[in-house]
Amino acid sequence: MTPSASDTAGHLVGEPVTSVSQWLDRYAAALIHVFGVPQTVLDHGQGCEVVDVDGKRYLDLLGGIAVNTLGHGHPALVEAITAQATRLVHVSNFFTSGPQVQLAEALLRIADAPTGSGVFFGNSGTEAIEAAIKLARRTGRGTIIAAENAFHGRTTGALALTWKPAYREPFEPLIGRVLHVPFNDESALRAAVAQVGDDLAAVVLEPILGEGGVVPSTAAYLRLARELASAAGALLILDEIQTGMGRTGSWFAFQSRGVVPDAITLAKGLAGGVPIGALVTFGPETTGLLAAGQHGSTFGGNPLACAAGLAVIDTIEIQGLLAHAATMGEHLAAAVLGLGHPQVAAVRGEGLLRAIVLTEPIAPAVMARARDAGFIVNAVAPDALRLAPPLIITATQLEQFAAALPGLIEGGGSP
Ligand SMILES: *Cc1c(COP(=O)(O)O)cnc(C)c1O
Repeated sequence: MTPSASDTAGHLVGEPVTSVSQWLDRYAAALIHVFGVPQTVLDHGQGCEVVDVDGKRYLDLLGGIAVNTLGHGHPALVEAITAQATRLVHVSNFFTSGPQVQLAEALLRIADAPTGSGVFFGNSGTEAIEAAIKLARRTGRGTIIAAENAFHGRTTGALALTWKPAYREPFEPLIGRVLHVPFNDESALRAAVAQVGDDLAAVVLEPILGEGGVVPSTAAYLRLARELASAAGALLILDEIQTGMGRTGSWFAFQSRGVVPDAITLAKGLAGGVPIGALVTFGPETTGLLAAGQHGSTFGGNPLACAAGLAVIDTIEIQGLLAHAATMGEHLAAAVLGLGHPQVAAVRGEGLLRAIVLTEPIAPAVMARARDAGFIVNAVAPDALRLAPPLIITATQLEQFAAALPGLIEGGGSP
């Protein structure tokens, strides 16, 4: 396509324009309604800004839920995807490709994984968890301990580890022998591990509950989980699908807690928006649990997704985005708390995974007003707004949002 004149929404001049409301009507008639009605219909984006089909601009403070690590249209990501698409998009797992091997090596390096560690690639977070569940089953034991308020995905294995009854119960029976314990509660974890005894295959935890409201684990809790799992001969599997890839200011949240897991799961931000998932196993013993023929995926590890993943890792390193995520996260928390607003109770989280906690359950209304005002955020709980912006977000952009926040909370004249 040759470049042509376009209006503010990027429509080619003279092209028939379909409005947000027209698309939403067609969406309602054509899609299965598992997500409710989408908030708008996005058309394009650049950096931390996205534009809907009506030409309305938004500051994207959610980044596709911690997925658009480099924002929208980052030249390094566009170039990597474009270049790889001209070479090979898919090869099957009868073959490998340079990007697949390079991305596995890069993940082992940034995860500080010891010699003999390994990577399995899938296409989503829930698939990474499925691989982790199969890894745990290969210990020969059957029970998994997970946390209350945890989210690990929607396929039927991962769903058994996910806490929210409304997600889980319509699909029961799921895989059995999953025990949920209150998060960050050391004595409850001790008691559960003792109760399960010899049947404990794995303890599976998010270092920060993501969907559960952006609740960080304490370092002491993760260290205890490490100790108890080791003593029981079980695996410690950390779900870094939302917290990984620099989001918290370190590559992975386990690194800031001084804990070495047996495995981590990755997805969301790993390839900057191209679908991908990964299980990283630490050390030869754990890595050896999955033998030839015991797991697989048609699309997993395809060169397109892996080239995108490499571009994400390279760009985070070249642009110093780990330190930037940490600094911007502090900046956001300071700007929001500095408002001294009576309805802001706290700011939770680390780096650029944050929740603004409100004193009342008005987060859905604040989210709607934010959207009308041109800010994308997420009401992760009735009283909490989640922000997980691209790691390239600037101080000025965060300040714009903080300045608007009192009006968004108070509502004024808008609904
Ligand atoms: C999003 C998420 C998942 C599921 O990932 P999908 O790609 O939606 O399957 C699992 N665990 C955590 C911690 C997540 O945030």
